[in-house]
Amino acid sequence: MIIVHDPPAMQQLADDARKSGKTIAFVPTMGALHAGHLTLIRKATGYGDSVVTSIFVNPTQFGAGEDFDRYPRNLDKDAALAAEAGSDVVFAPSAGAMYPQGYATFVSVEGIAGLLEGQSRPGHFRGVATVVAKLCLIVKPHVLLLGQKDGQQVIVLRRMLMDLNIPVRLVVVPTVREKDGLAMSSRNVYLTPGQREEAPVLYASLRMAEQRLREGERNAETVRSAMRDMITSGSHGVIDYVSVARGDTLEELSVIAPPLSVMISLAVRFGPTRLIDNISLTL
Ligand code: AMP
Repeated sequence: MIIVHDPPAMQQLADDARKSGKTIAFVPTMGALHAGHLTLIRKATGYGDSVVTSIFVNPTQFGAGEDFDRYPRNLDKDAALAAEAGSDVVFAPSAGAMYPQGYATFVSVEGIAGLLEGQSRPGHFRGVATVVAKLCLIVKPHVLLLGQKDGQQVIVLRRMLMDLNIPVRLVVVPTVREKDGLAMSSRNVYLTPGQREEAPVLYASLRMAEQRLREGERNAETVRSAMRDMITSGSHGVIDYVSVARGDTLEELSVIAPPLSVMISLAVRFGPTRLIDNISLTL
């Protein structure tokens, strides 16, 4: 496994791999790797002769007052974990190399990027779309692997890849969870023991909502309201949003009329820690 810091050196490596007929599978991350990330990397070995994992805490996707400064960083540990999971290359650029003085170009996905996470975190998806577009031009992957954990991110980036004619196949990997259902996240380490104990209520509320829909509930607000009740009665979490939306446009549903793909999602704060989770289903 090799670690590359310099974007032009990464581009050269990608060009060489492509020239020798190798397929490149790419897993972008912000590091603090956990079993969710490692599942993506392991899956990637089935899609590429060469697996590249990027580790970059991208400043442009964090808003003012968010956790950019305290986001956990440990490149040596992450690189060892990535190598063990099957990564051939770790690309770990500095912020200065990705956004040098005078940097002025951003990718903005209209519409869908302004909903849900985009509403709570203005500018977040502009940063995500920009960095993933740049990373695709640097790593030159054939296959890009993303986690369903960030469900809206998948939809936004799929749109971007299509709109910008970026010739990459997108593979979405199911959310990896702790035994009690909590979605694995680099931010779970911020939780106090008490918050950690309460946090599984998030996935429980998603499962309850899914079950209601599968049993025939057709009023989306009834489902959202039941989720809110379950979260507030079962934890000290402060709800940012709960959503029952169309799976393609993320437009909030009122009456549910199958056949329909639905994304049930939420964002809840436990103290300063903001957790997100979702379930996608087809009715
Ligand atoms: P992050 O480091 O949070 O930017 O995540 C990097 C990639 O890993 C994204 O595609 C995430 O959706 C994915 N990911 C993060 N947590 C999980 C999880 N628990 N299960 C599956 N994929 C995940």
